[in-house]
Amino acid sequence: MRMSEIFAPTLREVPAEAEIASHKLMLRAALMRKTMAGVYTYLPLGWRSIRKVEQIVREEMDRQGGQELFMPALQNPEPWQRTGRYDDYGSEMFKFKDRGGREVCLGPTHEENITTHVADEVRSYRQLPKLLYQIQTKFRDEIRPRYGVMRGREFIMKDLYSFDADQQGLDVSFERMYEAYCRAFTRMGLDFLVVEADSGAIGGKVSKEYMAIAGIGEADIVVCEKCGYGANVERAEITARPEASACECPPMSKVETPDVRTIEQLERFLSVPAGRMIKTLVYLADGEPVVALLRGDRELNELKLRNAVAAREVSLADEETILRVTGAPVGFAGPVGIKCPKVIADFEIPAIMCGVSGANEKDVHYKDLCYGRDFGPFELADLRNAVEGDLCPDCSNPLVAKKGIEVGHLFKLGAKYSVPLGCTYLDDKGESHPMVMGCYGIGITRCVAAVIEQHSDEKGIIWPMSVAPYQCTVVVVNTTDERQLEAGEALYAELMAAGVEALIDDRDERPGVKFNDADLIGIPIRVTVGPKGLDKGCVELKMRRDAQARLVPVEDAAEEIKAIVDAEMDRLEPCKR
Ligand code: ATP
Ligand code: MG
Repeated sequence: MRMSEIFAPTLREVPAEAEIASHKLMLRAALMRKTMAGVYTYLPLGWRSIRKVEQIVREEMDRQGGQELFMPALQNPEPWQRTGRYDDYGSEMFKFKDRGGREVCLGPTHEENITTHVADEVRSYRQLPKLLYQIQTKFRDEIRPRYGVMRGREFIMKDLYSFDADQQGLDVSFERMYEAYCRAFTRMGLDFLVVEADSGAIGGKVSKEYMAIAGIGEADIVVCEKCGYGANVERAEITARPEASACECPPMSKVETPDVRTIEQLERFLSVPAGRMIKTLVYLADGEPVVALLRGDRELNELKLRNAVAAREVSLADEETILRVTGAPVGFAGPVGIKCPKVIADFEIPAIMCGVSGANEKDVHYKDLCYGRDFGPFELADLRNAVEGDLCPDCSNPLVAKKGIEVGHLFKLGAKYSVPLGCTYLDDKGESHPMVMGCYGIGITRCVAAVIEQHSDEKGIIWPMSVAPYQCTVVVVNTTDERQLEAGEALYAELMAAGVEALIDDRDERPGVKFNDADLIGIPIRVTVGPKGLDKGCVELKMRRDAQARLVPVEDAAEEIKAIVDAEMDRLEPCKR
């Protein structure tokens, strides 16, 4: 492709709408343009990279026996109503009426659609397993579309669905996808971790997430650098049970704390660290009040609380309930004399010495509290999110905190969809069973953003060879100089003949403009054809990731570049992690 002809309107200025590197660069390097919140047009350079990511994913799905098909974005609500998700999905699902007044919706995911087909077509255990996938546009009316294609409202996803006869079959399918994902993300050049995840709204028992490590990642994860364990902070099990030493605090006493309500305000007002405060949270568990106690510097994990009280649903209590349970307005709750039939304390609470908490009285707190002496004992449980320094549940090594971008997700669904949608098969005795399902997603467009997030510098993108829109760019320094133009054109033709995906910058522009664009767009190999090199019969070859260029004889250049492309692709060939 010729830079004189390409539709690649690069931008010098950083667009005001973009906050993070990948979003800025995807706009500046002319990969995409926004049409409205969370919706983008992919321009030719961006589309090429997206297609490469898709192709990598497609090859890895096929390698594991996946069969590609294509389902509609426009969905029939009927199976969604049968699984209960037409309502459960809530306002994240785009719904509207057709001209006949019938409801239709846009697919945020396709479990209902695929399961309906398999239910209709597959009858016998002999036809299982089936691994069916598509690479297709998804629609989700996200509350906060942001960071460009990282969280779009229209985005491209690969979604594979596995149908097995039993749990063992599912385990095999799951393991296949595990390997496919490791291979695919490695091939894209992503630095990633696989973590245990909370199953969220899709449901099921086991789920793993693939996290591309990046400072702007929305997911908080903890990892063990010794044994490789990794989990979302919500999912990580906390195994430590800190022992309480004998209480040596002065007797508890009240302190006036006028209008001091938050942990931060209290820290300043009493000069006590948050770790010595007893955060007292009033929740409603299936409508009944429960009180959860945890250290002031910890975050409550609602899923753990839900499990601890065996409730279907928990939510923070309203002001009226708080007043009823604590006898005080919001901000002054504490465990001493609390009037709640159910109080649960986090495992760390008994170890707090000379603790501080609300006194269930407006503008008053207690200090010098000890568990067992002044309040409790209560039922103890693991109620909080993991933090750096917590011990690995597998090997007891201290965990390290990281941030990740969720690029892929594996779920074991079991019979969650096959039962309501009647997706059954007959076994060898003629008995009917629901199929055991799994679902496996990769955010294709999010992967492109994640790659850029991990591979860029202040000048622009530094594409890994495997997903670069072009592999090499030939920059002709001065196109009005016949000798340079001819040498550049000849090399460009040779590269194309050798199967290298090449660009030629044949624009009548200042060299600075051409070099800036090459750096911004981030093509891995740059060859400069200019007077200095040509005087020695050479061109200048520079990798985008390196600072230094080197001279290569004109006649060797194409072959050398082809060899670099091959070596770079080999370098990204995965070994199993
Ligand atoms: P998130 O927690 O980020 O909202 P999710 O759990 O809703 O993700 P899944 O339903 O598992 O996501 O979708 C599979 C994959 O699709 C995700 O791993 C992610 O890579 C991608 N994805 C999900 N939502 C979006 C979005 N709004 N924009 C771009 N990619 C997305
Ligand atoms: Mg989501």
